Amino acid sequence: MLFNIPMETLPREEIEALQLRRLQDLCARVYANVPFYRKRFNDIGITPGDIKRLDDVKLLPFTEKQDMRNNYPFGLFCAPRENIVRLHASSGTTGKATVVGYTARDLQHWAECGARSLCCAGVTPRDIVHVAYGYGLFTGGLGAHYAAERLGATVIPASGGATRRQVQLMRDFGANVLCCTPSYALHLWEAGQEVGIDFRELPLRVGVFGAEPWTEEMRRDIEQKMGIQAMNIYGLSEVMGPGVAMDCLESKTGMHLWEDFFLPEIIDPVTGESLPEGEVGELVLTTLTKEGIPLIRYRTRDLTTLDYTPCACGRTHVRIGRLRGRSDDMLIIRGVNVFPQQIEGLILEAEGLSPNYQIIVDRVDNLDTIEVQVEMNETLFSDEIRKLQALEARLRKNIKEFLGVSAKITLLSPRSIERSEGKAKRIIDKRPK
Ligand code: ADP
Ligand code: ZN
Repeated sequence: MLFNIPMETLPREEIEALQLRRLQDLCARVYANVPFYRKRFNDIGITPGDIKRLDDVKLLPFTEKQDMRNNYPFGLFCAPRENIVRLHASSGTTGKATVVGYTARDLQHWAECGARSLCCAGVTPRDIVHVAYGYGLFTGGLGAHYAAERLGATVIPASGGATRRQVQLMRDFGANVLCCTPSYALHLWEAGQEVGIDFRELPLRVGVFGAEPWTEEMRRDIEQKMGIQAMNIYGLSEVMGPGVAMDCLESKTGMHLWEDFFLPEIIDPVTGESLPEGEVGELVLTTLTKEGIPLIRYRTRDLTTLDYTPCACGRTHVRIGRLRGRSDDMLIIRGVNVFPQQIEGLILEAEGLSPNYQIIVDRVDNLDTIEVQVEMNETLFSDEIRKLQALEARLRKNIKEFLGVSAKITLLSPRSIERSEGKAKRIIDKRPK
């Protein structure tokens, strides 16, 4: 089922024509109303009238997270303060929080993107949607909430926390859909085990998981444990919140990015040059309709690909590949680039290990060291020590072989890594800055 058939199946030429009109309008709006952008445009000698073709977006300056911080809190707002009806702030995973403001129309568009995204996962107005993303300044909770309401589903605004009770509510209310981070989904599953609730016996059918990096291996693990379809949703508060892009049931190989609202580009994160379709690079997004805080060529730091090939679901909007990690999350260990997701993939391939892990990076005698702490699952835990050693050795060997770094492996007893109610903390970097 599609939420907005005409828009979601708009032919490519029409999408591009719409994007160009909206881009021109956006440039005129920010030039007139945001001194930061007017100065940026003037500095490089460009006026809104110079945008004649869609490709001219490349003439425009980038906007970075630091620009939002420098203009904290409301400096980049484009609408008068009295027209702003909601504020959110990013969780500040990588530094000081950034503030975003929405007009009433922005919130309508966000709910539309969210409702389309839920439809992509097969959610219908008859479903009961349990939202366990945190409610508050973080966009996850309210984003999923208004998306489900816009679709006409029944929403349970559980937020994060009180995990065992949440599992009981899911059972009692008969939730069909679970929205939360993938790590919290696993935490809920564990809590279910503790109180004797088997997710596979619940009416739960689909999970809408995002807000943190996760792997295909993690998807399979969750699907198997919970007996559901685990779908990937992408969003970021600077650009809007959850629902910027979403997996569809038909393909599950990429997330449709709503191109009537966002204009995507992929660039080389080092040189800033545009990359051809299919190459991995940094996702850059221009918000085409936003009024509160529109952004021109926002550098997301998220690494992915763009795929314009037609999708079996009939939607014409481009698909972005599973996020390869944030350029800021990349660890450089003795010169080798390592993403936590690569380690997660290797952990989940190893039998007997759980998806609960932490990566501890340190520097000893001027040499980077990396330790992977990973919990064994219950079955393995009760097994013999010899097997444990073999398992440690295998994971160490695989990390060495695939990633080229020597890591110390520490197997922990089940439930010894602290669970997060939102985004999981995967990396502890103790190296001096
Ligand atoms: P913060 O920047 O403080 O973490 P947000 O809560 O807005 O603020 O987080 C947005 C970021 O979360 C994205 O830029 C991306 O790195 C990550 N993210 C969101 N959804 C996904 C997803 N489905 N897969 C991987 N990473 C994601
Ligand atoms: Zn599709």
